[in-house]
Amino acid sequence: MIPNWLLQRAYLTPHKIALSFGDEKWTFVQLKDRALTLARKLSANDLNEGDRIALLGPSNAEMVFVIHACMLAGLEIVMLNSRLTEKEIAWQLDDSGASAVLVFDGLENNVAQSNVQTLLFSKVKESAEEPIELQEQWESDRTLTIMYTSGTTGFPKGVRQTVGNHVSSALSSVLNLGLAEDDVWLCAMPLFHISGFSILARSVLYGMEVRLYEKFDAIQAAKEIQTGTVTRMSVVALTLDKILRELEKKDAVAHLSFKTMLAGGGPVPVDYLDRAQNRKIPVLQTYGMTETSSQTATLAASDAIRKIGSAGKPLFFNQIKIKDANNAGDKGEVLIRGPHVTPGYIGRFIELDPLEDGWLPTGDIGYFDEEGYLYIVDRRADLIISGGENIYPAEIENVLAAHPGILEVGVCGQEHAEWGSVPIAFIVASGSLEVDELTAFCEERLARYKVPKVFRFVDQLPRNASNKLLRRELKEWTGLK
Ligand code: ATP
Ligand code: MG
Repeated sequence: MIPNWLLQRAYLTPHKIALSFGDEKWTFVQLKDRALTLARKLSANDLNEGDRIALLGPSNAEMVFVIHACMLAGLEIVMLNSRLTEKEIAWQLDDSGASAVLVFDGLENNVAQSNVQTLLFSKVKESAEEPIELQEQWESDRTLTIMYTSGTTGFPKGVRQTVGNHVSSALSSVLNLGLAEDDVWLCAMPLFHISGFSILARSVLYGMEVRLYEKFDAIQAAKEIQTGTVTRMSVVALTLDKILRELEKKDAVAHLSFKTMLAGGGPVPVDYLDRAQNRKIPVLQTYGMTETSSQTATLAASDAIRKIGSAGKPLFFNQIKIKDANNAGDKGEVLIRGPHVTPGYIGRFIELDPLEDGWLPTGDIGYFDEEGYLYIVDRRADLIISGGENIYPAEIENVLAAHPGILEVGVCGQEHAEWGSVPIAFIVASGSLEVDELTAFCEERLARYKVPKVFRFVDQLPRNASNKLLRRELKEWTGLK
């Protein structure tokens, strides 16, 4: 059994700051009161212990209250991604079997295509309160959240994340990062994604403040990091780059109290890590996924430079191995085992066992070095096989990202009559760039067969709600003129 997070936290440290958003702040006891009121209103709307509800809203303070309200009320929450299309949302609602969808005002059109009962947030707020029976303790296999995978490689799968999954993830994380009394975690990741939700979980488990932003704002983030009003932050490569650009513009560095920039969700170009070092930002590369309720391996701060490019070692409770690898350096699919791994999917994938022989196959290719550090190479599905040679798009992106005229780059394979497939690079440039110059730049740094055969200049790259590059969509672009 695990104590009900918010009840326990509000009891232990009622007057510590739990959340700040804009100019407002809430302590843990205030957070509990807000959530409890809403939980009682949900009950008045016939949503009770054990029900499954879907939630669609922005990542603001009200959303935090609602998420906690649902957990207090004992509901399973299907976290809907507010950037999905109506059709995609309707598909997930149908797949999830949610008994209702709670929607923030202004987003009701996004659920219009679904038959699931809609509850408007303003209506819930106007409801009377009905008493609820609070569960002081939770079974550790209770499902708290259901998140659909990004669908980067195919159909989104509804992943069950239990109390035990979230708790072991948060504990593993803090054993690695440590915790200080005055820690404040800047959250500019969507709350419906594990990257954002895991910050809320850490907040109540550790008694730590979350500084929440509805949307990522590079100028504000850089300011908070520079002035020391936050001590930790989660980013993906793109947001890290934007913060670095802000600091570079002002020739500023991070405040001494800023301890951790947790960078995950995809590969981070080595060039960004070097630049971060110049700005005194300790970047810790981390590797994780929806199915592992956030981090599964992370590089310790002390190794950040020596093992640049590595995703570190598995966190304390977790195990990682490479399928069919016998020696250090052997590349293969990354397999994961541990208390943070989902017990299963819901909906159309309910019968699909997430494990193979007790291990979660991740679909990612990686290897361990001689010292047991994990390197994630790329997704298996994105591998480009060109004339029998394996090419990992991330390696090429890494090289091009270091080019001063390139803001963003995405690489994928394009069908080719002679070679089967050849790499093609999509580039967002800061000014005008010559293809010959880019080819020469790559030729100096990459084997010939890895040099993109085509460079296409675009205004932006396809990204999902967490700003992850969608190579699947890039592949579709290769067919377009
Ligand atoms: P889907 O499973 O639907 O295709 P997805 O895998 O993108 O979507 P997430 O669970 O959000 O959905 O992302 C996890 C994936 O992100 C990992 O499997 C891996 O491919 C990638 N990733 C995460 N961290 C890293 C990292 N440090 N380096 C490289 N890739 C990473
Ligand atoms: Mg995945």
